[in-house]
Amino acid sequence: MNVNQSAPPVPPFGQPQPVYPGYHQSSYGGQPASTAAPTPYGAYNGPVPGYQQTPPPGVSRAPASSGAPPTSTAQGPCGQTAYGQFGQGDVQNGPSSGVQMQRLPGSQPFASAPLAPVVSQPAVLQPYGPPPTSAQVTAQLAGMQISGAVAPAPPTSGLGYGPPTSLASASGSFPNSGLYGSYPQGQAPPLGQGHPGAQLPPRSVPPQASSFTPSVSGGPRMPSMTGPLLPGQSFGGPPVSQPNHVSSPPPQALPPGTQMTGPPGPPPPMHSAQQPGYQLQQNGSFGPARGPQSNYGSPYPGAATFGSQPGPPQPLPPKRLDPDAIPSPIQVIEDDRNNRGSEPFVTGLRGQVPPLVTTNFLVKDQGNASPRYIRCTSYNIPCTSDMAKQAQVPLAAVIKPLARLPPEEASPYVVDHGESGPLRCNRCKAYMCPFMQFVEGGRRFQCCFCSCINDVPPQYFQHLDHTGKRVDAYDRPELSLGSYEFLATVDYCKNNKFPVPPAFIFMIDVSYNAVRSGLVRLLCEELKSLLDFLPREGGAEESAIRVGFVTYNKVLHFYNVKSSLAQPQMMVVSDVGDMFVPLLDGFLVNVNESRAVITSLLDQIPEMFADTRETETVFAPVIQAGMEALKAAECAGKLFLFHTSLPIAEAPGKLKNRDDRKLINTDKEKTLFQPQSGAYQTLAKECVAQGCCVDLFLFPNQYVDVATLSVVPQLTGGSVYKYACFQVENDQERFLSDLRRDVQKVVGFDAVMRVRTSTGIRAVDFFGAFYMSNTTDVELAGLDGDKTVTVEFKHDDRLNEENGALLQCALLYTSCAGQRRLRIHNLALNCCTQLADLYRNCETDTLINYMAKFAYRGVLSSPVKTVRDTLITQCAQILACYRKNCASPSSAGQLILPECMKLLPVYLNCVLKSEVLQPGAEVTTDDRAYVRQLVTSMDVAETNVFFYPRLLPLTKSPIENTTEPPAVRASEERLSNGDIYLLENGLNLFLWVGASVQQGVVQSLFGVSSFSQITSGLSVLPVLDNLLSKKVRGLIDSLRAQRSRYMKLIVVKQEDKLEMLFKHFLVEDKSLSGGASYVDFLCHMHKEIRQLLS
Ligand SMILES: [Zn+2]
Repeated sequence: MNVNQSAPPVPPFGQPQPVYPGYHQSSYGGQPASTAAPTPYGAYNGPVPGYQQTPPPGVSRAPASSGAPPTSTAQGPCGQTAYGQFGQGDVQNGPSSGVQMQRLPGSQPFASAPLAPVVSQPAVLQPYGPPPTSAQVTAQLAGMQISGAVAPAPPTSGLGYGPPTSLASASGSFPNSGLYGSYPQGQAPPLGQGHPGAQLPPRSVPPQASSFTPSVSGGPRMPSMTGPLLPGQSFGGPPVSQPNHVSSPPPQALPPGTQMTGPPGPPPPMHSAQQPGYQLQQNGSFGPARGPQSNYGSPYPGAATFGSQPGPPQPLPPKRLDPDAIPSPIQVIEDDRNNRGSEPFVTGLRGQVPPLVTTNFLVKDQGNASPRYIRCTSYNIPCTSDMAKQAQVPLAAVIKPLARLPPEEASPYVVDHGESGPLRCNRCKAYMCPFMQFVEGGRRFQCCFCSCINDVPPQYFQHLDHTGKRVDAYDRPELSLGSYEFLATVDYCKNNKFPVPPAFIFMIDVSYNAVRSGLVRLLCEELKSLLDFLPREGGAEESAIRVGFVTYNKVLHFYNVKSSLAQPQMMVVSDVGDMFVPLLDGFLVNVNESRAVITSLLDQIPEMFADTRETETVFAPVIQAGMEALKAAECAGKLFLFHTSLPIAEAPGKLKNRDDRKLINTDKEKTLFQPQSGAYQTLAKECVAQGCCVDLFLFPNQYVDVATLSVVPQLTGGSVYKYACFQVENDQERFLSDLRRDVQKVVGFDAVMRVRTSTGIRAVDFFGAFYMSNTTDVELAGLDGDKTVTVEFKHDDRLNEENGALLQCALLYTSCAGQRRLRIHNLALNCCTQLADLYRNCETDTLINYMAKFAYRGVLSSPVKTVRDTLITQCAQILACYRKNCASPSSAGQLILPECMKLLPVYLNCVLKSEVLQPGAEVTTDDRAYVRQLVTSMDVAETNVFFYPRLLPLTKSPIENTTEPPAVRASEERLSNGDIYLLENGLNLFLWVGASVQQGVVQSLFGVSSFSQITSGLSVLPVLDNLLSKKVRGLIDSLRAQRSRYMKLIVVKQEDKLEMLFKHFLVEDKSLSGGASYVDFLCHMHKEIRQLLS
């Protein structure tokens, strides 16, 4: 176990507990622990409600006794919990001394790292010739290494990475197929239109590309044996079931987590005997993926020889890297599911790496926040900044403070300390949490963040047991759980007044385009019923949220829908330059009270504007009006804007069309991502001050400048949805589904988030949809359960292994019912003095989430190419540091990846190829701005599937098999033309049909008799009464249910024009926009690493 094993100074839980040796639990529930002193707060019976119990009813007081302690406690992997491990008074470092902010070299001004020359052999400059025979990049099962004696590259000084490409792409001419469609829109994807003959700007193809092209064979990929047998291939058994990342220390001297490689030497005699074992890999498996590397090391001493030049006699010199022999995302995901999906993840231990986001698992809160709330790039932080700089692994947490939980897990308990409010450290203001140490018989506590000794208020006093723990520890969520809420007192409220419930204002564009597309009618019809589903709290009968309505084109129309009126009244404000709200009484109303008037209004709006000829719209004044209305009502709230066009009408925030594709790949490309007017930032700031969150639904027929229009949603914690060329018949399902979800979702308003850390590290950078007016407070006009805030940490002092490092995220917000609350998440991490411990406890999915956000922010200020180079350099530095410090000596020809990061190259390549960083010919400027904005708030699961889509074969497994089919790798060579596949990435959903699919299958699924009769681009499957049809439609429903946005289906036939669109998502392949294939990129990374090491 990679947790801090040092015995706590005192047993963490003193109560005798024979039953659960792993986790002393008896004090929960049944025992009369809290008889000593009355607590200000009712019984709270167990630290494991997160797993066992139903959510607490309502809020206010903590739940009443919840009965007996849970019985199915998972075995604690070790006999201690995190509680006792922290500061016994002497452990913290004290206040930090001189702090300086250090940027990682890798995040310095985007510049390619100078590549050290590697000349161990004369390099052959032979750009597209046959691969050097010496080139062999061979995967080795053992220790997940990929060894390859890649022909050394000539020194390349700071050349950007240009993927090895075909001659065609090198010459800059691309097939003029309008490939692209990150956003399949309502209409047929924009294939062939728009950019006839479009040519991509020539991409730089560095001359050295060839040096690792051995792996690039132009011809079809042969799934044949391409190299010597891999050590470990004979290992025919199932993957060793080791929990992800939590590998046991290797038996001998090697640092934990390092790969095991034998010294270069003659091949093991069993070499050819392993032949049969090789077959195991043909289906993309990459060995016992997540087992501890050390398990595979020693039996195969010859491992390292496979990459080295004077290697063993080989039957066939490998021509290319076998795709089956490089780390497979599918295999890693499958292994983690198998190894970690069955046991609940118990959060009692410090520094535990949770299961992957792709694994279904339950969480038991035993003192640390669930990974649903916080995931980290590493759960073991280097003790010093020097170490951190050396490793270049960003230290970041992806925090989703209001994450929704599965029904089996309880929402955080709400603790009410009455008028005294939550208990905090006097100095650093951290909130009471399980890591605070009570001393002096319980009269004082020492802060685990800043070491300050604080008095315990009399009403909070409680005796300590013989272990030094408060006897009521398990009766109080704030002393035993990782996540909980406090009711805030009036001191935490704006203007020292308790908030009134928030309001929703629906602001509908009624210009010509909106009316003609059918949007206005559809929306008004939907709102009539949707208003019954506004978010409500606990068991409330009706929502406390009030609603208001505005329509607009170049003027604004406000509606009085007061319940006493027989008919709604319209008031027009045409002076959009000086926006004011013409009515207060009757604008924001309770839905039930005003139902008749509202229904009448929603009936009338489509009629009133049915014949409009007005095509111009305003935009900023609309937001201004909504914000002013909330200000007048003295409440927070959310604006739902439904907007169609570039706001060119004369008004503040007026925009001009400045789209210019010629800027792509120039130094001015960044301007495409920047807002064109500063007015929107100013407006956003006012919105944040008012707690006015803006959700924007866009329905553009052409460029609308998403980069500028999304500024206010982005800075107010809102969402942006885009439906290009919206047509009711094609897009209503997607739009309505998104709208329903968006309106119903629980939101925290007028929020401030602060992340506190224990001495030694501090939060220095933040990514997400929010506003910051200082360096520490993340201000969110609104925050919903889908939004994440990514926080980066830097050292400001030494950490030590004994104490670890603590994070506390505190979110102050107003609930949907108008209650002011604090949600607290605590997380304890380990600290290490050995780099290997860092590499052993990393989470690549989180790393990629951070790196994507870092890069996507970088494009605002730096050329895209520079951003890409920076990513590559940082990744190479991370892996080179591992190789240098953690891996055992081996041939330089071997690429050795840390087990936890073996997918870093493939995932990073997906980020580099994404539309923001490397747009294809058909990606619009708005698409790129939209994706950039979306990714900023994505959680780890969303970035994972967004960058590496899920490809599911539908017809491979028996039709009766109802479980989700295992995914295959996102590459064309994984597609069989006799099968049907689904591909999804959280935003897009394709059904690919092979040209040789059996007629019976076609009939069952599409209701037509042959492949040729299937309609290409179909978005709805016919409802047919047979097993296959039901199964596929059921699977589509289930995929949609897993994602936060509705994915519209597009049926793609093999060899059809639309297939180009689909192929964009086969991310392991070379992309038409110049993105490298996985194999090529891996070779390139290898070369970069070697250059760093030499
Ligand atoms: Zn403190």
